[in-house]
Amino acid sequence: MTSEDFFDAIDSSFILLMTEQETYSPLSGSRQHDPSLLAFIVKDTGGSTKLISHQLLFFPAELMTVQPEKPDLQTNLKEGQRLEYIERRYPEAIRFYQDRIIHTRDTAEKIQAMVAAARLYNRTNQPDRAKAIYDEIRQNYPGSLLNGEIPIALVASLEILKINQVMGRMDEMNTNLRQYLELLLHPPCEYDKNQFELFYQSFKEIVQETSPVIDSLFRELDRQKARTETLIRVLTGPDLIVTSGYGQWKGRKNEMTSIPINPAELTAVYLSVENDAGVQSSMVIDFPEYLRSVSDKLIQKLDPEASINLKVKDNNGKLIFARLNTEDIGYLALPFPQNLPKWSLLLSKNKPGFIATLWKAGSGIYLFIFILIALLMVLGFVFTLYTLNMVLRLNKLKSEFISNVSHELKSPLTTIRMMTELLHHKRVQTEERKSAYYSAMLQESERLSHLIDNILDFSRIDEDRKKYEFIDLDLDELLRNFLESTRERLTDSGFKIRYDCTDTIPPVRVDKDAILQVIYNLVDNAIKFSGKSRQIDISLFSKDDELQLCVKDYGIGISAKDHEKIFDRFYRGDEPQRLGIKGSGIGLTIVKRIIEVHKGHLTLKSIPGKGSTFCVHLPIHANTEI
Ligand code: ADP
Repeated sequence: MTSEDFFDAIDSSFILLMTEQETYSPLSGSRQHDPSLLAFIVKDTGGSTKLISHQLLFFPAELMTVQPEKPDLQTNLKEGQRLEYIERRYPEAIRFYQDRIIHTRDTAEKIQAMVAAARLYNRTNQPDRAKAIYDEIRQNYPGSLLNGEIPIALVASLEILKINQVMGRMDEMNTNLRQYLELLLHPPCEYDKNQFELFYQSFKEIVQETSPVIDSLFRELDRQKARTETLIRVLTGPDLIVTSGYGQWKGRKNEMTSIPINPAELTAVYLSVENDAGVQSSMVIDFPEYLRSVSDKLIQKLDPEASINLKVKDNNGKLIFARLNTEDIGYLALPFPQNLPKWSLLLSKNKPGFIATLWKAGSGIYLFIFILIALLMVLGFVFTLYTLNMVLRLNKLKSEFISNVSHELKSPLTTIRMMTELLHHKRVQTEERKSAYYSAMLQESERLSHLIDNILDFSRIDEDRKKYEFIDLDLDELLRNFLESTRERLTDSGFKIRYDCTDTIPPVRVDKDAILQVIYNLVDNAIKFSGKSRQIDISLFSKDDELQLCVKDYGIGISAKDHEKIFDRFYRGDEPQRLGIKGSGIGLTIVKRIIEVHKGHLTLKSIPGKGSTFCVHLPIHANTEI
């Protein structure tokens, strides 16, 4: 942004303001109140001047929009005046005026009758009645002139003040005075300077106690009075330009001229344009006010990135406004052009912020990298949290595992120890009992041995150290031998195992011990989680290119959400824990890993409360090599 851009923008905004006023004003009267617009005048080819909108406190006769007509004073009120002034029959005069107030249709006559009635009430010591009428006048006819020149609202206001003064109602007087001074500041009708001065002086004289509010209202009136006088000089001077040091009207048709007006009491700009029809529109705008109202928008448009610090100072060096983005240093001062007041514009370059620099340099590539790094950092943080959470969870599972395994190890050992002691101390008498004890000890040590196998295998599998020895094996035979060896243990606890293998099963290449461990773990789980059921079905068959070995129970089942998790290490379902069924959480992890090494896979069908079926799928012609 340069200073020229700034001043060009001001010129364009002048044109916009003028166009807006020209479009709206003649048709619909004054447009919405623009506080910087002091006056807008249209002068036609015949030389007649029309004041469309203004901020004048009083009017010179030539600028009044409505020329006052002198009404005929010899109206129907003559009779009242005779009763009042000649015969001095006040009550009858009051009745007469009251009657006119009610019956006349002429506003001027009505107001005159009201004023007369109020005057007589006052004279006959009925101040409250007089006040009521003055109040009514003030409120209902604020824009009317008495006898075509006296602002009636101000007359009524002054009379109310006087009545309150006589009655000693000081508080009321002060409130009234404030209202009436506001009325002088915003005149409801057009009257001349004499009228203004008259009421201004009368109000001033009546003040008994000054207050800060009243003082400031009088000060504002003084200021506005001076401005009004200047404005009137400008508006009524030759060619509407009197105070400008730049001479006569110079503009060509349709070209807008702007000329500064700069007397002590007013800094303004006089704008003027003449259209093709020879009609000249002119306006006087309060420049400081105007600049303040448009500057934000202007600057925002000229310098959207806020790269410039900007200040405007008037001819006395007083700051009019400033937009500062960084600290206040190194300004370049530029004078305003001749068509504007003799002010100065101060500009300084703004040091862009960190992000702005990033954005600008290399069309945003650096910002992109910056965002990317920030994103990676966030991702890294999330990942660390996730891992930490995993590690903590795993640690918890591990410690649960240790406590579970210790228990699993301890219980068969305790049984074996107890029985050994009994046998050692010859406490068991019959051979039959002895044989039962030996068999139980055998079973418990087998259980122990399987558990230890599981733990050792788990650690080998976990660290990828387990060695497999693949041989061609008849699975049917393996299963039958397995069932034979466990039958005793199972029948003891009331379990019935149905084994189903109708096909001729081709041999498969497997590690015998590993597959036995798979079968043991699946059957052991089926027993553990059978609940009240005592039935387990095992089936072996070939389908397409694979062998399927399924272990089915009718026990507690597995909820759908656990179908995948149960193969994770140390994971144990909620239901077994709730039911107090012991376990270590590594059985199925081992099964899964072994089957994967055999290039097979596992499937599970289970309904909670109905039972589960685990199936091992092994490829028949797999060339497994480890
Ligand atoms: P453990 O049996 O020692 O708890 P597993 O790894 O063998 O460990 O099994 C993990 C979990 O899978 C068990 O805790 C149990 O919740 C579930 N599970 C395994 N087999 C069955 C089954 N036949 N019936 C119901 N739940 C089972």
